Amino acid sequence: MTATDPATPGATPATPATPAPPTLEMMIDGKPAPAMSGETQDVVSPVTGQVVARVPRAGQEDVDRAVAAAKAAFDGEWHTWSQTRRGQALQRLAQLTRDHAEELAQTESQNGGKPISSARWEIGAVANVMEYYAGAANKIHGETIPVSKPGFDFTLREPIGAVGLITPWNFPLMLASWKMGPALAAGNTAILKPASYTPLTALRFAELALEAGIPKGVLNVVTGPGASVGQAIAAHPGVGKVAFTGETATGQQIMRAAAANVKRVSLELGGKSPNIVFADADIERFAAESPYSVFDNCGQDCCARSRILVERSVHDRVVELFAAATLKVKVGDPNDPNTEVGTMVSFRQRETVLDYIRIGREEGARVVVGGGIPAEPAYAQGAYILPTVFDNVEQGMRIANEEIFGPVVAVIPFDTEDEAIRLANATPYGLSGSIWTRDVGRAIRVARAVRTGVLSINCNSSVHTEAPFGGYGMSGVGRENGMAAFEQYTQLKNVYVDLS
Ligand code: NAD
Repeated sequence: MTATDPATPGATPATPATPAPPTLEMMIDGKPAPAMSGETQDVVSPVTGQVVARVPRAGQEDVDRAVAAAKAAFDGEWHTWSQTRRGQALQRLAQLTRDHAEELAQTESQNGGKPISSARWEIGAVANVMEYYAGAANKIHGETIPVSKPGFDFTLREPIGAVGLITPWNFPLMLASWKMGPALAAGNTAILKPASYTPLTALRFAELALEAGIPKGVLNVVTGPGASVGQAIAAHPGVGKVAFTGETATGQQIMRAAAANVKRVSLELGGKSPNIVFADADIERFAAESPYSVFDNCGQDCCARSRILVERSVHDRVVELFAAATLKVKVGDPNDPNTEVGTMVSFRQRETVLDYIRIGREEGARVVVGGGIPAEPAYAQGAYILPTVFDNVEQGMRIANEEIFGPVVAVIPFDTEDEAIRLANATPYGLSGSIWTRDVGRAIRVARAVRTGVLSINCNSSVHTEAPFGGYGMSGVGRENGMAAFEQYTQLKNVYVDLS
């Protein structure tokens, strides 16, 4: 799916009794900005099917304005700030994020259908990321290099300029923070384009950035369809780098567009990550914890462990325990603090996932639990779907190969360690995965052999603010998080001084 068409099937316009949804504005050069065309697009809650806001539907002329503002800010005051001063401003922004955490979490939950508990966690993570990069801002430096001539050689690590940040809808503000944090800490200015489904927290965040004292034009936010607005950013000659998170096919388009002015590109793309369970693993723990590694965020997670590769001797036991644990995952109203899985981001996205469930059945896989929409009337309004476990899956099936991006997992048995590794690597993706075994030697052997950028052993995730994140193969280029992210947002200058 693409986020270019938010006119979600199943959405109903607000009834006359409902207050009119607010019409929001973009942030360009420190000022609220409608689209120059005056056009807007609806933002629909997948929980109620109602329009919750309207945002500008920007065009090329708005992208041009935002890029001009970002370039002027880069050459202006921002450029004169010391790295420490930049860090202090980001620290204030982190604090403002914490001060407004509940408001941001409520918005994220209502806009994306995610449980309020998850939204609160995500906004906390945004503040953590901004704090990390606030502290890191004055730790970016070059080095001196002993060369074979008698002179003096040193490097400078410099910002790139105006950078384009194009983000998806699954973790809207959190994935934007993974880009904004290092981009701004390194001294760049930015044009952020959030996904059409979920633009609301980005617009609010830009206001908080101004309140934090970050100069106008340093963080601009434009809203509108990816195919026009996102593409315009990716192709813009005034943008020196584009950072993107989203589908692999979109990433390929962005890479092509970026070639026009040889932009730097970093891409965080799709995945089909394996969860490898050996017979000697703590099977009970695996079964209790792993449903969350694929069903969290309603499966809309690039790192979702959507394939369980299980040693045949424990296959039946693992399927039985995993299915029982899946039935305990609490699907429900995102506003309920006990809800663990809310709605999908849209009715359209749910249709895509339901199609995959149909395909899986037609391919001969067996639905163990889930397999459709919850029947109870309480779920009728929202884009709910049941966590679904497929057994009897074979490697050749589409559900074993394609990124479903919903709460669907495929169980595939293996007989040997080599076969587990072969199956794990039998995908053009290479983002994430987990290995479950009590044998340390095997854990490390398999971790070295699996071709993904991120791996966890005996747990669900290895994503940390402080550690690099990104994919191998068609899962992407470049790394986010940690100090590694600065490689994506700086360029290296070498200077040689003749001392004679
Ligand atoms: P998407 O590719 O449809 O959209 C992502 C962003 O790109 C949106 O802002 C969209 O408007 C914009 N866009 C769409 N078409 C564009 C174009 N032609 N040019 C420029 N921009 C364009 O992705 P999505 O559906 O929002 O997100 C889901 C995908 O993101 C999944 O494939 C998932 O695996 C991936 N994802 C990856 C990571 C990661 O870190 N690797 C994290 C989260 C999501």
